[in-house]
Amino acid sequence: MTSDATSDRPALTDEVVDLCRDLLRIDTSNTGDNDTSAGERAAAEYVAEKLAEVGVETQIHESAPGRANVVARIAGTDPSRGALLVHGHLDVVPADADEWSVHPFSGEIRDGYLWGRGAIDMKDFDAMVLAVVRHWQRTGVRPTRDIVLAYTADEEAGGDYGAHWLVRQHRDVFDGCTEAIGEVGGFSYSVDDARRLYLIETAEKGVDWLRLHAKGRPGHGSMVHDDNAVTALAEAVARIGRHRFPTVVTPTVRAFLEEVSELLGIELDPEDPEAAIAKLGPIANIIGATIRNTANPTRLTAGYKDNVIPGRATATIDCRSLPGQSELLEAQLRELIGPDIDIEYIQRQSAIETTFDGDLVDAMSAALRAEDPGAHPVPYMLSGGTDAKAFAQLGIRCFGFAPLRLPADLNFSALFHGIDERVPVDGLQFGVRVLDRFLRTC
Ligand SMILES: [Zn+2]
Repeated sequence: MTSDATSDRPALTDEVVDLCRDLLRIDTSNTGDNDTSAGERAAAEYVAEKLAEVGVETQIHESAPGRANVVARIAGTDPSRGALLVHGHLDVVPADADEWSVHPFSGEIRDGYLWGRGAIDMKDFDAMVLAVVRHWQRTGVRPTRDIVLAYTADEEAGGDYGAHWLVRQHRDVFDGCTEAIGEVGGFSYSVDDARRLYLIETAEKGVDWLRLHAKGRPGHGSMVHDDNAVTALAEAVARIGRHRFPTVVTPTVRAFLEEVSELLGIELDPEDPEAAIAKLGPIANIIGATIRNTANPTRLTAGYKDNVIPGRATATIDCRSLPGQSELLEAQLRELIGPDIDIEYIQRQSAIETTFDGDLVDAMSAALRAEDPGAHPVPYMLSGGTDAKAFAQLGIRCFGFAPLRLPADLNFSALFHGIDERVPVDGLQFGVRVLDRFLRTC
């Protein structure tokens, strides 16, 4: 690598900051509405151009005008090996510039960080992958297995115009893919100066968004009335919102607690996960939602005039289910709301879970340890959802592995969709080095 630095060829980590910065400056806000979502096409063209510059052929697939996905395949030296899918989304959640310390689409560098909406979710990883592939192409490196690159649209609104659409309409892109890496994992959490956990995502909760429909008798607001849809809905919503579902320890959470217990030298009883998680400090908020199903009311709609009792009322409930628990969760909700309110699913994606073992996991761990001797890779479950859910439908084993070494005092999980989202510049460069090692050896 040092010889590269002194020649006119860029060194491995030279480009990543500029690539990420360029991507951050393309506003790819995903509002959930095709008319107001912006920039995905421009970002896709940017990626395609950066790959074309080094001789990688790409295809851009649009699911709707402007909703662009970029795919490419880099041929490995051993065609008998299954391909590895490396995926990252190009869209971001919207950002309100008034709330930020810097403009969210300015790509400013300040205090050792690159700032902007998407800096950690997930233009950082998009840029790291581009940096590694460009370096390989320039220096003649070929991976052993085929690597399929997928830069997707629409992850932030569920992926109907991105990963899920690609899986439905362009399944052949993923031919031969057996394993995948993407967000949200591979980031560090400092135990002390010498030791860092690296959380590798091996499971994701399911997404079970549903709408409750209550019906009643419409009428005049001045009358005595005992069949009011708003009252019935409000009671059901309050019961759901106050309910605590029972704890369940899945294999991933059990493996996480066992590893962390040993590393921290504290007793973490997997049979009492709530008490165990309470001992984990700041990391508890990442793990806390992965020991039970959850159901949070998020929207209420009813009525059209102050003195009219409406005949209908609806509420949206954001539910997240543990692996294998979606049906059980529905039964639990049914019991809470009673027989008179209808349930309609507006989004239902199964949870996914794989084991923390095998050659791919060994390669991730080895690459992390080579770049950070204090690295302790551990598996964990993400309480949210990612594009991995779409790819898992093809039988692909999905991991969250977008390596980042973070400073001990950074509240990383708060930056996702948060104000002043930013990524440490040296963390980006670390990620490139880890990915380069991992992708060469996996
Ligand atoms: Zn994301």
